[in-house]
Amino acid sequence: MSDSNEYDHLFKIVFIGDVRVGKSNLLSQITYDRFNTEYKSTIGVEFATRILNIDGKRLKAQMWDVAGGERYRAITFAYYRNVAGTILVYDISNYSSYKNIPRWLKEIRNNGNSRNRILLLGNKSDLENQREVSREEAKVFAAENGLDFIETSALDGTGVEAAFQWIMTSSYKLLL
Ligand code: GDP
Ligand code: MG
Repeated sequence: MSDSNEYDHLFKIVFIGDVRVGKSNLLSQITYDRFNTEYKSTIGVEFATRILNIDGKRLKAQMWDVAGGERYRAITFAYYRNVAGTILVYDISNYSSYKNIPRWLKEIRNNGNSRNRILLLGNKSDLENQREVSREEAKVFAAENGLDFIETSALDGTGVEAAFQWIMTSSYKLLL
């Protein structure tokens, strides 16, 4: 039997966006219970891992989450170092979290490497009756900025697995 911790490629994936948009809940949706998770606390950062099989290869996602640092804009260069993929999150029921996306994008592009894949993610899609950001507006912004775009709900799970698969697949494709 092969060791379940063995993998062919490791991808560092980071969650970025305003506080309370749902980053930590997205991370738990991706990893909680169903998969091998190991939470570790470092200085202001938590991460969890999950293995995904693509093309007969075992790809390990090491997903980083800021533990409150986003409130103080204290995300450090170390957070962005060697990132393969970024999940850039806003809350569809909170327009100001969407308005801050260009600022986060600038920070990602200033600190990250050019091979970093970026997925724009509108979370809390279950709050349709409180929607403040239209799907069309976000879609146009994503297209103009070379990002992919998806809406999710970390509450009911809609779109979350698709988002994870997208970020891993597109990071892997860059290696080929
Ligand atoms: P973070 O600060 O970006 O890590 O956000 P959290 O994951 O801590 O979530 C902030 C708040 O939003 C919490 O009260 C969550 O329960 C709630 N939340 C997160 N995702 C969703 C979602 O998809 N739908 C709804 N309705 N609430 C959510
Ligand atoms: Mg959090």
